[in-house]
Amino acid sequence: MKHALFAIALVAAPALAAPADDVSEARMKAIVERLVAFGTRHTLSVQDDPRRGIGAARNWAEADFRSTCGDAVTIVKPETTISGKRVPQPTRLVDVVAIQRGIERPNDVVIVEGHIDSRRSDPLDASGDSPGANDDGSGTTLVLEAARVLCHSHFAGTIVYAVVSGEEQGLYGGKLLADYARAQHWTVKAVLNNDIVGNSKGSDGLVDDTHVRVFSEGPRANATPALTEAQRLMGGENDSPSRNLSRYIAGLGDPALAIRQVWRADRMGRGGDHLPFEDAGYPAVRFTVAVENYEGQHQDVRAEAGRAYGDTIDKMDFGYLAKVTRLNVRALAALASAPMPPEATVDGAVKTFTTVQWKAVPGAASYAIWRRRTDAPGWEDKVLTTTNTTAQLDGIRADDWFFGVSAIAADGSASPIASALPGGGFGN
Ligand SMILES: [Zn+2]
Repeated sequence: MKHALFAIALVAAPALAAPADDVSEARMKAIVERLVAFGTRHTLSVQDDPRRGIGAARNWAEADFRSTCGDAVTIVKPETTISGKRVPQPTRLVDVVAIQRGIERPNDVVIVEGHIDSRRSDPLDASGDSPGANDDGSGTTLVLEAARVLCHSHFAGTIVYAVVSGEEQGLYGGKLLADYARAQHWTVKAVLNNDIVGNSKGSDGLVDDTHVRVFSEGPRANATPALTEAQRLMGGENDSPSRNLSRYIAGLGDPALAIRQVWRADRMGRGGDHLPFEDAGYPAVRFTVAVENYEGQHQDVRAEAGRAYGDTIDKMDFGYLAKVTRLNVRALAALASAPMPPEATVDGAVKTFTTVQWKAVPGAASYAIWRRRTDAPGWEDKVLTTTNTTAQLDGIRADDWFFGVSAIAADGSASPIASALPGGGFGN
């Protein structure tokens, strides 16, 4: 029968399916339910109980990486002992990290992370139930599901899937992972932090399931006074690598989920595990929902004056979480296929022409020069594509433009654009 043959032909061509299409909403819901069932995942909670607490939850996440990816990933568990304002007793802190080595440039790394720890109204209450379904069961689940759908594909660069902890006590797990990246001498192309990515209804009833917010710093956290002065004169305060990573991700949206770039490091008065990476000079962004439910965050589960408080599964939208996961999968695949963005400079002072120069990067088959007006939010024109590492642009007055350069692999995968401005380089 013709229909049967057609069906067989479809089955015989699995290479045409994009990994993002494989994201399973049902599996993600089951993972969040499993995480909630550990009772609490507070960083200061019990670490050696097989059923309850942060230790059991970490072990379960590690087992999920092993069962879905097997030998396709290497599991490492960086650990340290922390103490601080929200850590009254020295406490063992462990991140669970699955590394999918790149086949051409294993030192080029893109990281996706979520935090597995949860909290109650009192940040020091490590014994009571603390479901943490959305904060950040959602991000943890996204990381595990991204690993499942991507780990059996091959990429030029490395993808690191990280389930971190200690976020609610002071961003300790993100700092531990940033330190680990430094110790491994990884070249970190991008960090995608996913924290609260699984609800579409706000505490006032406002619904938005067609946007996700991406937060990025403007001026770099690790800027020196000399860099700040150079940016005052030349520009670059809106061109950090994190900001250009945000612009790149904004180009990966689809009709079901558009990206709302937010040009601040994080929400007002809040933080997340991308911040320790930016502190260390690495490009990083935070994904989070379009509208937050504040009654669901950092609250003991309870009813009060007819309102339901607490971070429970019923406040989540798994269709939305699956959309944010598909976006992350597309971003990870694109970034892991692309070369590092090149370090670029511009010479155009007191001239009627502009010279753009950059350093060659491994894996680049060509480079694209982009420009935008200095008051334009995003890159506007691709000026030219070349295999050289310098280009003279006749008749173009450099004062009136910002320039950037993207590296393009032989298969067409393009890197984010690195601005040819002070502080614009992705190198770290
Ligand atoms: Zn969080």
